[in-house]
Amino acid sequence: MRDCACWRFIIFIMHSEIIAVGSELLSFGRIDTNSVDISSRLAGIGISVRYKQVIGDRIADMSQAISLAMDRSEIIFITGGLGPTNDDITREAVADALSMELKEDEQVVLELERLYRKWGRRMSENNRRQAMVPEGALVLPNLNGTAPGLFLHEGEKLIFVLPGPPRELNPMMKNQVIPLIKKNKRVSDRPFRLLKIASVSESALDARIEGIYKDYPDVDTTMLSSPGVISLYFTWRADNGDQVHAKACLDQLIGRIDAELGISVLTDREEDMQDTVGRLLNEKGLTLALAESCTGGLICKMLTDVPGSSEYFMGGVVSYSDTVKENVLGVSSSDLKEYGAVSAKVAEQMALGVREHLNADIGLSVTGIAGPGGGTDEKPVGTVFIGLSGAGTCQSWSVRALGGRGIVRQRSANQALDQLRKWLLTGG
Ligand code: AMP
Ligand code: MG
Repeated sequence: MRDCACWRFIIFIMHSEIIAVGSELLSFGRIDTNSVDISSRLAGIGISVRYKQVIGDRIADMSQAISLAMDRSEIIFITGGLGPTNDDITREAVADALSMELKEDEQVVLELERLYRKWGRRMSENNRRQAMVPEGALVLPNLNGTAPGLFLHEGEKLIFVLPGPPRELNPMMKNQVIPLIKKNKRVSDRPFRLLKIASVSESALDARIEGIYKDYPDVDTTMLSSPGVISLYFTWRADNGDQVHAKACLDQLIGRIDAELGISVLTDREEDMQDTVGRLLNEKGLTLALAESCTGGLICKMLTDVPGSSEYFMGGVVSYSDTVKENVLGVSSSDLKEYGAVSAKVAEQMALGVREHLNADIGLSVTGIAGPGGGTDEKPVGTVFIGLSGAGTCQSWSVRALGGRGIVRQRSANQALDQLRKWLLTGG
């Protein structure tokens, strides 16, 4: 029995490692986001990443990094350096580290020639470098670019060599790499659920739900915070293979948290605030107009990021100056003087003005102090007023957004849309 338990333990500890290649990732150019995307995909099948390395375009350094990974990890992902130019040397480094020959793959050359013909361009000689494949490697077709990926199965180790551009890497990871891992290693899908929570601070949220998620020791709870919205990820941790039991437990956990948080739960889908608000407006057949001061058009941008938003979004006015607030939106000049541009009165008049001006069912407004200057004792940086005008109603809310200028603006945008969402849900 003891041996059996020990064997299970050994099987399920799988060390994976990511090597991100590119000198630009070590200097001012780019951040390595590929390793974040790869780790998220791996979490879905219960594989955690033990190590990450970021290596410049030097063959000796890369070769050393690959040898180190081969010594300590069972699954290795190498991204980047598969382009056609001379600084793209990942293929050579892999061949060097694994003592393999590189050979031109005829099928890959034909595919590259086909692609260039399709684009009406002549394939240059250096593109043939992308057809160099270590012996024994499986070529992973790239449907979104020219550099194919590579898969090597060396003893117990799986090695994936993947293109650097995220739009090429991510579909390859989802459609080819994950299925290959599932085929070659004993892994199973880990059910997971997501809940997004709006306008609640991380500490307040944790205080309210800690007593619930701690009742589920087989579930990993992860909190990812962004300004105005917190994402809660619940991932099944235990590897007992009983998916029905896992899903039932996750459903129960989600149900309890949903009941505790009520209207603060934004969504259980992979969607943003503007998607949820857009869906509600669509369902109710209502149109919206925006008057933005401190958010400078950010909310209009968020709303129009959603395809089909022209169904409900009429447009907006960036009323950054008092003159525009007064002359375009009809805010009273004496109220501007008496209460200031950042005030409940002005927020309400901005919302009313834009609703009437743009002939919308609802007007939403934001006015605040984004900082770093402009704050006073009475109205410190981060003081924000949100106004809402609908048929027969005009109201406002005051919020305090903490953080730098960018965070204050993003938080204000999400909170304004969240006030609208709550108003719509409670019968607006
Ligand atoms: P490469 O395959 O090295 O030619 O990389 C092509 C492009 O992919 C680079 O210009 C980067 O912009 C991008 N890229 C490469 N590696 C990464 C990475 N780890 N994370 C995000 N982007 C990357
Ligand atoms: Mg590169």
